[in-house]
Amino acid sequence: MLPKNQEKLLNDIHSRVIEYLNDINIKPNKTEKEIRSNIDLSIGTSSDLNQIKTLFDKYLEHSTKTNSPQFYNQLFSGFSTTGYIGELLSTITNNSMYTYEMSPVATLIEVELLNKMSSLIGYKNGGGTFVPGGSNGNFLAMLAARHYRMPTVMNSGLFGVSPMTVFVSRDCHYSMTKSANQLGIGTDNIIKVDVDKGGKMIPDALDQAIQLSLNLGSIPFFVAATAGTTVRGCFDPTQEIAQICKKYNLWFHIDASWGGSVLLSKKHKHLMNGCDQSDSVTWCTHKAMAQPLMCTAILFKDPSILESLNDVAGTEYLFHNKDSKEPDLGKQSLQCGRRVDVLKLWFTWKYYGDSEYGKKIDHLFNMAKYAELAVIKSKMLNLVSDVNYLNICFQIQPDGINTSQVGHFTIAVRNELFKNADAMVNYAEIDGKTCMRLVTANYDLNTKHIDQLFSDIESNANKLLTNYN
Ligand SMILES: *Cc1c(COP(=O)(O)O)cnc(C)c1O
Repeated sequence: MLPKNQEKLLNDIHSRVIEYLNDINIKPNKTEKEIRSNIDLSIGTSSDLNQIKTLFDKYLEHSTKTNSPQFYNQLFSGFSTTGYIGELLSTITNNSMYTYEMSPVATLIEVELLNKMSSLIGYKNGGGTFVPGGSNGNFLAMLAARHYRMPTVMNSGLFGVSPMTVFVSRDCHYSMTKSANQLGIGTDNIIKVDVDKGGKMIPDALDQAIQLSLNLGSIPFFVAATAGTTVRGCFDPTQEIAQICKKYNLWFHIDASWGGSVLLSKKHKHLMNGCDQSDSVTWCTHKAMAQPLMCTAILFKDPSILESLNDVAGTEYLFHNKDSKEPDLGKQSLQCGRRVDVLKLWFTWKYYGDSEYGKKIDHLFNMAKYAELAVIKSKMLNLVSDVNYLNICFQIQPDGINTSQVGHFTIAVRNELFKNADAMVNYAEIDGKTCMRLVTANYDLNTKHIDQLFSDIESNANKLLTNYN
C-alpha cells in the first residue's frame, strides 16, 4: 500500500506534468550559476515530500524544452502521449528483459516489434534486440561482424591477428570510430571513404579503399553505409555498396539510426531501396518516430549471431529454462538487467497503425520541403546542402556580411534566437562552412511554426546586423 503522502505527491505531480506539457515555449538555458543558486544539488540531509515536489518543479523549470515545436536542435523533438504512458508502465511494472518470466508481455512485444521492423527492412527471418541508442546498435553490429569474420577472437582476443579494417563514409556518425576503439580494432583502422558533393559515399572510392587495405595485408571485415546522415540527412547508395560487399564477402551494415523511419512511408521508403541486402540495420525510433529516448532496435538478417557472440559461461543462475519454448531475450543482449524500451513504441504504433504512422513521416518530409523553400525564397539565407530528408542546412548572410564572417554571424543569430526564447536550432559544419542545421522531427509542426521561425531568424539577423563588425 502506498502511504497517503506519497499518493498525494503522485496526484500533484500528474497535474504539474499536464501543465508542463501544455506550455510549449522554448526557455533559454539557465547558466550553471543560476541552477546552483536555485536548486540545492547537494546530497546529505533528508527532505520531506513537499521539498521533493519543489525540486520536481524546479527541475522542470530549468530543463531544456524539447516538447516545443520551436525546438529544432536535435534529431528528435516533441512529445508522445502514447510514448509517455509506455514509459510510465515500464517504470511502475519494473520488469527486466533478461528472462521470459521476468518480463512475459514485454518479451512477446519485443519479438513482435523486431519481426515487424525486420519485415519492413525486407529480411525474411530477421530479428535482433533493443539497445540503448544508435551508438550501441552500431557497436553491436561491428561486434557481430568481427565475430562472424574471426570467431576465434571471442576466446583468444585480437593478439597476433593482422589489422582488421572497417569502412565508413566521411560523413558517418562518430559512434563508428568509438566502436573501433571499444572493440580493439583501433581507430587507425577505420577507413573513411570519400563522399560526393551531396554527401553520399562514393562506391568506387569504397572499392579502391578495400583493395588497398587487402594489398597492405589487412583484413577488411565491415562496411557501414548511413541512411540519413546526422548533419545533412543524406542516404548512401545502398545497392551499389551491397554489390561491393558481396564481391569481397564483407559484412554490410546500414546505420539507419536517423533515416530508418522512412520505411514507414510508402512515398519515401525508396530512399532505403536495397536495404534488404544488408546484414544488419540500426534503427532509432526515438528520432523520427517520435518516441522518448531511448528506443533503438538493431536488426540482423540472421539473428542467430546474437546468441553465438553472447554465449559465455556463468549464466546458469539467470537462465534456468533450457528446454522452455518461451524466449529469454537476455541470451541475445550485451546487457544483463535491461529496462523495457518497447512499450512506448508498441503503444504508439498500435495507436497510429501503419498507415497513420507513415503519414506522420510524410508530414515531416512536407515540413522539411516547406522550410527548404523558405530558405530558397529568402534573400539572406543560402542552402549549403541539398535537402534529402529532414535536415535543412543553410547559412545566414544578409547584405553587409561577407564570406569570411558568415559562419560567425550564423552562430550569432542562432545564439540570439535561443537567448530570446524564439527557437532552438543547432549548427554544424559542412566542407568548412558553418551552417544552421534545422531539423523537422516534431509531429506537431505546421507551416505557421516554420513561418514564425524564419521571421524570427530574419528579425534577429537584422537586429544583430546593426551593431555587428
Ligand atoms: C543519432 C545517430 C546515431 C546515434 O544514435 P544515439 O541513439 O544518439 O546513440 C548514430 N548514427 C546516426 C547516423 C545518427 O544520426
